[in-house]
Amino acid sequence: MTVAVIGAGPAGLMAAEVISAAGVAVTVYDRMPSAGRKLLMAGRGGLNLTHSEAFDGFLQRYGDAAPWLKPVLAAFPPAALMDWAESLGQPTFVGSSGRIFPKALKASPLLRAWLLRLRQQGVTLRLRHDWLGWARDGALRFAAEAGEVRVPASATVLALGGASWPRLGSTGAWSSVLAGQGVAVTLFRPANAGFTISWTPAFARFAGTPLKSIALSFGGQTIRGEAMVAGYGLEGGAVYALSAPLREAIARIGLAILTVDLKPDMTLDQIAARLARPRKSESLSNFLRKALGLAPVQINLLREGHGMMLADDAAALALQVKAVPLRLTGMQGLDRAISSAGGVAWDEVDARLMLRAKPGVFAAGEMLDWEAPTGGYLLQATLATGVAAGKGVLQFMEQHPKPGKKNEQFSLL
Ligand SMILES: Cc1cc2nc3c(=O)[nH]c(=O)nc-3n(C[C@H](O)[C@H](O)[C@H](O)COP(=O)(O)OP(=O)(O)OC[C@H]3O[C@@H](n4cnc5c(N)ncnc54)[C@H](O)[C@@H]3O)c2cc1C
Repeated sequence: MTVAVIGAGPAGLMAAEVISAAGVAVTVYDRMPSAGRKLLMAGRGGLNLTHSEAFDGFLQRYGDAAPWLKPVLAAFPPAALMDWAESLGQPTFVGSSGRIFPKALKASPLLRAWLLRLRQQGVTLRLRHDWLGWARDGALRFAAEAGEVRVPASATVLALGGASWPRLGSTGAWSSVLAGQGVAVTLFRPANAGFTISWTPAFARFAGTPLKSIALSFGGQTIRGEAMVAGYGLEGGAVYALSAPLREAIARIGLAILTVDLKPDMTLDQIAARLARPRKSESLSNFLRKALGLAPVQINLLREGHGMMLADDAAALALQVKAVPLRLTGMQGLDRAISSAGGVAWDEVDARLMLRAKPGVFAAGEMLDWEAPTGGYLLQATLATGVAAGKGVLQFMEQHPKPGKKNEQFSLL
C-alpha cells in the first residue's frame, strides 16, 4: 500500500519528499494536467521564497495562527528553506526589502529539479486525478479520465491548497468533503488582494502608477512600502500587509478608512518648514513637487483624499501630506487574491498535523486556516507544514505498522 499525497503544489511535494526520503512508497495525485501551477505563477513575480527578518517578528506575520505555527516553522525555518532551495541548484539572495528570492528569480528551474529529485526517490505522480473523498471501505476516491479510481492508502496527506486563483487547481471544493467527515473548515476569504476605492475620473487616469515610498496606516498598524493604483482601487505589497484587518472592518461596517503618509521619512515639522517657503506665483502642484519631491500621482492623491481644496497654511498642509484618507468599500474576490484566509481549523489537527477526526490523514499548506502577508511568508509556512505532515506520516506509520505484513520500504528507516 502506498502513502497518498493529494495535491502537487509545494506543500504536497514537500510532504512527498520527506516521506519518500525515508524509503516509503509515495504516490502524489493532482486534478490538474501538471504539477505546481500556482508555484509557477508565484515565480512570475520573482518567487519570493521567504523573508530574512528575525524569527520573532517573522512569526508575528501569521497573526492568530502564530502560536500554532511556531513549532512547525521552528522545525523548518527560513534558513532550512534556503538550504533546501540551494540543494536543488537554486541558491538564494536577500533583496533590499529583506525578502529572499532564488537567484534565477523564477520557479521553473526549482520545480524541474524538485520533480526530478522526487522521481529519483521513487515518487509516482498521477495527474488528472480529482479527489472526491473516501469510499465506505476507507479507500480514496478519484475521478480520473477512465472513470472512478479507488486507492487504499496506508496514510494520506491532503495538500489541496486554499481557494484563491481557482483556475490553477485549488478551488476549495474539498471543504464540503471534509465537513461531511465532521472536520470544521473556516469559510474562505480573500487575502492579499486589492481594495475598491471609487476614484474620481481625474484620478482614475493614474491606474497602473506605483505609489512609491509611502506608509499606510490602519487600525494602529503602519506599513512602509509601495502600493499600486488600480482602476478599481488600490493594490500592492503595503496594502496586502494590512489586508486582514481591512477586510474584517469592511465585513463589519462596510468601509475602512486607510491613511496614506506621502512623506514617511520626514516629520510633520520638517514638512511644514519646507511648505512655509514663499510660493510666489507657482501653482500648488509645482510648489509641492519642488518643496517635497512629490510625484504627480502623489499630488493628485492628496487632492483625491482631502478634496480639491488643499489647506493654505503650511502646518495644516503638512498634516494633510502625512495623512491622506482613502475610503475603501470592498475587497477583490478570491479569484484575484494571491492567497486565502480560512480552511481546516487548527483545533482539527494535532501537533503532527493529523486530522483528529481521521487518524492517518494529515493536512498541509494553504488548506490549513492561517494567513500571512506577501513577503515570502506564504511559501515558508506552506513548505514548513509540508515537512511537518511528512514527518507526521512517518511517525504514524512507525506507530501503526500494517498487521501481518512488513513494510519493506519502511524498514529502510
Ligand atoms: C499570483 C500569485 C503569486 C504568488 N507569489 C508568491 C510569492 O512570491 N511568495 C509566496 O510565498 N507565495 C506566493 N504565492 C502564494 C503561494 O503560491 C501559495 O501559498 C502556495 O502555492 C500554496 O501551496 P499549497 O501547496 O498549499 O497549495 P497549491 O499550490 O494551491 O496546490 C494545491 C494543489 O492541490 C490540487 N488540488 C486541489 N483540489 C484537488 C482535488 N480535489 N483533487 C486533486 N488535486 C486537487 C491543485 O490542483 C493544486 O495543484 C502566490 C500566489 C499567487 C496566486
